[in-house]
Amino acid sequence: MAKIIDGKAISAEIRNEIKQQAAEFESKYGFRPGLAVIIVGDDAASQVYVRNKRRACEEVGFYSEAYELPASTTQEELNALVDKLNASDKIHGILCQLPLPRHLDENEVILRIAPHKDVDAFHPYNVGKIMIGDYSFLPCTPAGVMALLERSGIDVCGKECVVVGRSNIVGKPQAMLLLHKSGTVTVCHSKTKNLSEVCRRADILVAAIGKADFFTGDMVKDGAVVIDVGMNRRPDGKLTGDVDFASVEPKASYITPVPGGVGPMTITMLMQNTLTAAKNSVK
Ligand code: NDP
Repeated sequence: MAKIIDGKAISAEIRNEIKQQAAEFESKYGFRPGLAVIIVGDDAASQVYVRNKRRACEEVGFYSEAYELPASTTQEELNALVDKLNASDKIHGILCQLPLPRHLDENEVILRIAPHKDVDAFHPYNVGKIMIGDYSFLPCTPAGVMALLERSGIDVCGKECVVVGRSNIVGKPQAMLLLHKSGTVTVCHSKTKNLSEVCRRADILVAAIGKADFFTGDMVKDGAVVIDVGMNRRPDGKLTGDVDFASVEPKASYITPVPGGVGPMTITMLMQNTLTAAKNSVK
Protein backbone atom coordinates (compact mmCIF):
# COMPACT_ATOMS: atom_id res chain seq x y z
CA MET A 1 0.00 0.00 0.00
CA ALA A 2 1.43 3.34 -1.03
CA LYS A 3 1.55 6.40 1.15
CA ILE A 4 -0.66 9.04 -0.44
CA ILE A 5 1.11 12.37 -0.88
CA ASP A 6 -1.50 14.91 0.16
CA GLY A 7 -0.95 17.88 -2.15
CA LYS A 8 -3.81 19.82 -0.61
CA ALA A 9 -2.34 19.61 2.90
CA ILE A 10 1.22 20.39 1.77
CA SER A 11 -0.07 23.25 -0.34
CA ALA A 12 -2.02 24.68 2.62
CA GLU A 13 1.10 24.44 4.80
CA ILE A 14 3.21 26.34 2.24
CA ARG A 15 0.49 28.97 1.67
CA ASN A 16 0.44 29.59 5.39
CA GLU A 17 4.18 30.20 5.36
CA ILE A 18 3.81 32.54 2.36
CA LYS A 19 1.00 34.41 4.13
CA GLN A 20 3.22 35.02 7.16
CA GLN A 21 6.12 36.18 5.00
CA ALA A 22 3.80 38.45 3.00
CA ALA A 23 2.54 40.06 6.23
CA GLU A 24 6.13 40.60 7.41
CA PHE A 25 6.99 42.06 4.01
CA GLU A 26 4.05 44.47 4.15
CA SER A 27 4.85 45.68 7.65
CA LYS A 28 8.48 46.28 6.66
CA TYR A 29 7.96 47.93 3.25
CA GLY A 30 4.41 49.30 3.44
CA PHE A 31 3.09 47.51 0.37
CA ARG A 32 1.98 44.01 -0.54
CA PRO A 33 3.41 41.62 -3.13
CA GLY A 34 1.27 42.12 -6.26
CA LEU A 35 0.29 39.73 -9.04
CA ALA A 36 -1.41 40.64 -12.32
CA VAL A 37 -3.21 37.94 -14.26
CA ILE A 38 -4.21 38.45 -17.89
CA ILE A 39 -6.73 36.27 -19.66
CA VAL A 40 -7.78 36.74 -23.27
CA GLY A 41 -11.00 35.19 -24.57
CA ASP A 42 -13.51 32.99 -22.81
CA ASP A 43 -11.86 29.56 -22.51
CA ALA A 44 -13.76 27.96 -19.61
CA ALA A 45 -10.77 26.06 -18.14
CA SER A 46 -8.59 29.19 -18.26
CA GLN A 47 -11.28 31.18 -16.47
CA VAL A 48 -11.32 28.62 -13.65
CA TYR A 49 -7.51 28.85 -13.32
CA VAL A 50 -7.66 32.65 -13.23
CA ARG A 51 -10.39 32.62 -10.58
CA ASN A 52 -8.32 30.20 -8.48
CA LYS A 53 -5.24 32.40 -8.82
CA ARG A 54 -7.17 35.46 -7.67
CA ARG A 55 -8.55 33.50 -4.71
CA ALA A 56 -5.04 32.27 -3.81
CA CYS A 57 -3.80 35.90 -3.82
CA GLU A 58 -6.55 36.86 -1.37
CA GLU A 59 -5.74 33.87 0.82
CA VAL A 60 -2.07 34.80 1.22
CA GLY A 61 -2.70 38.56 1.47
CA PHE A 62 -1.31 39.66 -1.91
CA TYR A 63 -2.51 42.57 -4.00
CA SER A 64 -3.91 41.37 -7.33
CA GLU A 65 -5.19 42.75 -10.59
CA ALA A 66 -7.11 40.65 -13.11
CA TYR A 67 -7.48 41.65 -16.76
CA GLU A 68 -10.19 39.77 -18.63
CA LEU A 69 -9.79 40.84 -22.24
CA PRO A 70 -12.15 39.98 -25.12
CA ALA A 71 -11.10 37.36 -27.70
CA SER A 72 -10.90 40.20 -30.26
CA THR A 73 -7.95 41.81 -28.40
CA THR A 74 -5.11 42.70 -30.78
CA GLN A 75 -1.42 41.94 -30.24
CA GLU A 76 -0.78 45.69 -29.91
CA GLU A 77 -3.38 46.02 -27.15
CA LEU A 78 -2.00 43.01 -25.29
CA ASN A 79 1.56 44.29 -25.65
CA ALA A 80 0.49 47.70 -24.33
CA LEU A 81 -1.06 46.08 -21.25
CA VAL A 82 2.11 44.05 -20.59
CA ASP A 83 4.19 47.24 -20.94
CA LYS A 84 1.95 49.04 -18.47
CA LEU A 85 2.25 46.18 -15.95
CA ASN A 86 6.01 45.96 -16.47
CA ALA A 87 6.18 49.60 -15.39
CA SER A 88 3.76 49.33 -12.46
CA ASP A 89 5.19 49.63 -8.92
CA LYS A 90 2.27 47.69 -7.48
CA ILE A 91 2.81 44.63 -9.65
CA HIS A 92 5.72 42.27 -9.03
CA GLY A 93 4.50 39.27 -10.98
CA ILE A 94 2.73 39.11 -14.35
CA LEU A 95 1.06 36.02 -15.67
CA CYS A 96 -0.62 35.73 -19.04
CA GLN A 97 -2.91 32.69 -19.08
CA LEU A 98 -2.10 30.39 -22.00
CA PRO A 99 -3.27 29.28 -24.49
CA LEU A 100 -4.07 32.57 -26.19
CA PRO A 101 -6.53 32.87 -29.09
CA ARG A 102 -4.83 31.81 -32.33
CA HIS A 103 -4.35 35.29 -33.80
CA LEU A 104 -2.09 36.23 -30.87
CA ASP A 105 1.57 35.28 -30.62
CA GLU A 106 2.31 33.59 -27.28
CA ASN A 107 6.05 33.87 -27.78
CA GLU A 108 5.83 37.61 -28.27
CA VAL A 109 4.00 37.93 -24.93
CA ILE A 110 6.44 35.63 -23.11
CA LEU A 111 9.36 37.71 -24.41
CA ARG A 112 7.66 40.99 -23.53
CA ILE A 113 7.05 40.25 -19.84
CA ALA A 114 10.01 41.69 -17.91
CA PRO A 115 12.13 38.72 -16.73
CA HIS A 116 12.06 40.00 -13.13
CA LYS A 117 8.24 39.86 -13.20
CA ASP A 118 8.03 36.55 -15.11
CA VAL A 119 6.56 34.46 -12.28
CA ASP A 120 5.70 31.61 -14.67
CA ALA A 121 9.44 31.34 -15.51
CA PHE A 122 8.69 31.03 -19.24
CA HIS A 123 11.00 33.84 -20.47
CA PRO A 124 14.18 32.47 -22.11
CA TYR A 125 16.23 34.47 -19.59
CA ASN A 126 14.65 32.55 -16.70
CA VAL A 127 14.71 29.25 -18.64
CA GLY A 128 18.45 29.79 -19.09
CA LYS A 129 18.88 30.51 -15.39
CA ILE A 130 17.06 27.28 -14.55
CA MET A 131 19.47 25.43 -16.84
CA ILE A 132 22.51 26.70 -14.91
CA GLY A 133 20.86 26.19 -11.53
CA ASP A 134 20.85 29.90 -10.65
CA TYR A 135 17.18 30.66 -10.59
CA SER A 136 15.10 33.59 -9.54
CA PHE A 137 11.87 31.75 -10.26
CA LEU A 138 11.22 28.03 -10.31
CA PRO A 139 8.75 26.86 -12.97
CA CYS A 140 5.52 26.40 -11.02
CA THR A 141 4.42 22.81 -11.72
CA PRO A 142 7.89 21.18 -11.55
CA ALA A 143 8.65 23.25 -8.45
CA GLY A 144 5.42 21.94 -6.94
CA VAL A 145 6.57 18.38 -7.60
CA MET A 146 9.93 19.07 -5.93
CA ALA A 147 8.18 20.55 -2.89
CA LEU A 148 5.94 17.48 -2.62
CA LEU A 149 9.00 15.21 -2.69
CA GLU A 150 10.94 17.30 -0.20
CA ARG A 151 8.09 17.68 2.28
CA SER A 152 7.36 13.95 2.07
CA GLY A 153 10.98 13.24 3.06
CA ILE A 154 11.87 11.70 -0.32
CA ASP A 155 15.53 12.20 -1.19
CA VAL A 156 16.24 12.50 -4.91
CA CYS A 157 20.04 12.17 -4.66
CA GLY A 158 21.32 9.15 -6.59
CA LYS A 159 17.83 7.91 -7.51
CA GLU A 160 16.78 6.75 -10.97
CA CYS A 161 14.28 9.42 -12.02
CA VAL A 162 12.17 8.91 -15.14
CA VAL A 163 10.20 11.91 -16.43
CA VAL A 164 7.67 11.06 -19.12
CA GLY A 165 6.82 14.18 -21.15
CA ARG A 166 9.23 16.81 -22.52
CA SER A 167 7.16 19.98 -22.71
CA ASN A 168 8.75 23.34 -21.95
CA ILE A 169 6.45 23.95 -19.01
CA VAL A 170 6.57 20.54 -17.30
CA GLY A 171 8.84 17.75 -18.56
CA LYS A 172 12.05 19.63 -19.46
CA PRO A 173 12.23 21.88 -16.38
CA GLN A 174 11.20 18.92 -14.21
CA ALA A 175 14.15 16.93 -15.49
CA MET A 176 16.46 19.85 -14.75
CA LEU A 177 15.21 20.31 -11.18
CA LEU A 178 15.64 16.58 -10.47
CA LEU A 179 19.13 16.74 -11.97
CA HIS A 180 20.02 19.70 -9.74
CA LYS A 181 19.05 17.47 -6.79
CA SER A 182 21.50 14.85 -8.11
CA GLY A 183 18.94 12.40 -9.49
CA THR A 184 19.95 10.22 -12.46
CA VAL A 185 17.41 11.49 -14.92
CA THR A 186 15.90 9.95 -18.05
CA VAL A 187 13.41 11.95 -20.11
CA CYS A 188 10.89 10.02 -22.22
CA HIS A 189 8.45 11.18 -24.90
CA SER A 190 6.19 9.86 -27.63
CA LYS A 191 9.12 8.46 -29.65
CA THR A 192 10.72 6.60 -26.72
CA LYS A 193 11.20 2.91 -27.43
CA ASN A 194 10.32 0.35 -24.75
CA LEU A 195 8.67 2.97 -22.56
CA SER A 196 7.38 0.39 -20.05
CA GLU A 197 10.88 -0.99 -19.58
CA VAL A 198 12.35 2.46 -18.98
CA CYS A 199 9.57 3.34 -16.53
CA ARG A 200 10.19 0.11 -14.60
CA ARG A 201 13.73 1.34 -13.87
CA ALA A 202 12.40 4.39 -12.03
CA ASP A 203 12.76 4.93 -8.32
CA ILE A 204 10.89 8.17 -8.97
CA LEU A 205 8.47 8.25 -11.91
CA VAL A 206 6.97 11.57 -13.01
CA ALA A 207 4.07 11.13 -15.44
CA ALA A 208 3.29 14.24 -17.49
CA ILE A 209 1.84 13.29 -20.86
CA GLY A 210 -1.86 14.21 -20.68
CA LYS A 211 -3.25 10.71 -21.36
CA ALA A 212 -5.81 9.41 -18.86
CA ASP A 213 -4.80 6.31 -16.87
CA PHE A 214 -1.91 5.56 -19.28
CA PHE A 215 0.59 4.31 -16.68
CA THR A 216 -0.46 0.93 -15.32
CA GLY A 217 0.91 -1.25 -12.53
CA ASP A 218 3.04 -3.35 -14.89
CA MET A 219 5.02 -0.19 -15.84
CA VAL A 220 6.05 0.54 -12.27
CA LYS A 221 8.78 -0.97 -10.11
CA ASP A 222 7.86 -2.23 -6.64
CA GLY A 223 8.39 0.57 -4.14
CA ALA A 224 8.62 3.37 -6.71
CA VAL A 225 7.55 6.94 -5.94
CA VAL A 226 4.92 7.88 -8.53
CA ILE A 227 4.11 11.53 -9.23
CA ASP A 228 1.12 12.13 -11.47
CA VAL A 229 1.16 15.55 -13.12
CA GLY A 230 -1.58 14.70 -15.64
CA MET A 231 -4.92 16.46 -15.54
CA ASN A 232 -7.41 14.88 -17.89
CA ARG A 233 -11.19 15.08 -18.08
CA ARG A 234 -13.09 11.82 -18.34
CA PRO A 235 -16.20 11.73 -20.55
CA ASP A 236 -18.28 12.08 -17.35
CA GLY A 237 -16.42 15.34 -16.56
CA LYS A 238 -14.38 13.89 -13.67
CA LEU A 239 -10.72 14.86 -13.37
CA THR A 240 -8.19 12.04 -13.70
CA GLY A 241 -4.43 11.76 -13.95
CA ASP A 242 -2.05 9.98 -16.32
CA VAL A 243 -1.61 7.17 -13.80
CA ASP A 244 -4.05 4.30 -13.38
CA PHE A 245 -4.30 4.72 -9.62
CA ALA A 246 -6.02 1.37 -8.97
CA SER A 247 -3.23 -0.76 -10.47
CA VAL A 248 -0.24 1.45 -9.57
CA GLU A 249 -1.02 2.33 -5.95
CA PRO A 250 -0.51 -1.23 -4.61
CA LYS A 251 3.04 -1.29 -6.08
CA ALA A 252 4.18 2.23 -5.26
CA SER A 253 5.74 3.40 -1.99
CA TYR A 254 4.37 6.93 -2.46
CA ILE A 255 1.83 8.23 -4.94
CA THR A 256 0.08 11.52 -5.68
CA PRO A 257 -3.66 11.38 -6.29
CA VAL A 258 -5.55 13.35 -8.95
CA PRO A 259 -7.19 15.54 -7.89
CA GLY A 260 -5.42 16.64 -4.72
CA GLY A 261 -1.79 15.91 -5.63
CA VAL A 262 0.31 18.10 -7.93
CA GLY A 263 -2.64 20.32 -8.97
CA PRO A 264 -2.94 22.44 -5.80
CA MET A 265 0.84 22.95 -5.72
CA THR A 266 1.11 24.80 -9.03
CA ILE A 267 -0.76 27.91 -7.86
CA THR A 268 1.02 27.78 -4.51
CA MET A 269 4.37 27.93 -6.31
CA LEU A 270 3.06 30.88 -8.31
CA MET A 271 2.40 32.64 -5.00
CA GLN A 272 5.92 31.72 -3.89
CA ASN A 273 7.40 33.21 -7.08
CA THR A 274 5.36 36.41 -6.63
CA LEU A 275 6.68 36.77 -3.09
CA THR A 276 10.23 36.21 -4.40
CA ALA A 277 9.67 38.87 -7.09
CA ALA A 278 8.44 41.36 -4.49
CA LYS A 279 11.44 40.62 -2.25
CA ASN A 280 13.80 41.04 -5.21
CA SER A 281 12.21 44.43 -5.98
CA VAL A 282 13.39 45.86 -2.65
CA LYS A 283 16.90 44.38 -2.71
P1 NDP B 1 2.14 18.61 -23.65
O1 NDP B 1 1.01 18.11 -24.48
O2 NDP B 1 2.76 19.91 -23.95
O3 NDP B 1 3.29 17.51 -23.65
C1 NDP B 1 3.01 16.16 -23.52
C2 NDP B 1 4.28 15.37 -23.57
O4 NDP B 1 3.96 14.01 -23.39
C3 NDP B 1 5.04 15.49 -24.88
O5 NDP B 1 6.43 15.63 -24.63
C4 NDP B 1 4.75 14.16 -25.58
O6 NDP B 1 5.82 13.67 -26.38
C5 NDP B 1 4.58 13.23 -24.41
N1 NDP B 1 3.70 12.11 -24.74
C6 NDP B 1 2.45 12.15 -25.25
N2 NDP B 1 1.98 10.89 -25.44
C7 NDP B 1 2.95 10.06 -25.04
C8 NDP B 1 3.07 8.65 -25.00
N3 NDP B 1 2.09 7.85 -25.40
N4 NDP B 1 4.21 8.11 -24.52
C9 NDP B 1 5.23 8.91 -24.10
N5 NDP B 1 5.18 10.26 -24.11
C10 NDP B 1 4.04 10.83 -24.58
O7 NDP B 1 1.58 18.56 -22.15
P2 NDP B 1 2.05 19.36 -20.83
O8 NDP B 1 3.45 19.03 -20.51
O9 NDP B 1 1.62 20.77 -20.91
O10 NDP B 1 1.10 18.66 -19.75
C11 NDP B 1 1.18 17.28 -19.48
C12 NDP B 1 0.04 16.93 -18.53
O11 NDP B 1 0.20 17.66 -17.33
C13 NDP B 1 -1.35 17.31 -19.05
O12 NDP B 1 -2.29 16.36 -18.57
C14 NDP B 1 -1.61 18.63 -18.38
O13 NDP B 1 -3.00 18.90 -18.23
C15 NDP B 1 -0.96 18.42 -17.06
N6 NDP B 1 -0.55 19.65 -16.39
C16 NDP B 1 -0.85 19.74 -15.07
C17 NDP B 1 -0.50 20.85 -14.37
C18 NDP B 1 -0.83 20.89 -12.94
O14 NDP B 1 -0.90 21.96 -12.37
N7 NDP B 1 -1.04 19.75 -12.30
C19 NDP B 1 0.16 22.00 -14.99
C20 NDP B 1 0.54 21.76 -16.38
C21 NDP B 1 0.17 20.62 -17.04
P3 NDP B 1 6.34 14.44 -27.73
O15 NDP B 1 7.13 15.60 -27.24
O16 NDP B 1 7.16 13.41 -28.40
O17 NDP B 1 5.10 14.83 -28.48
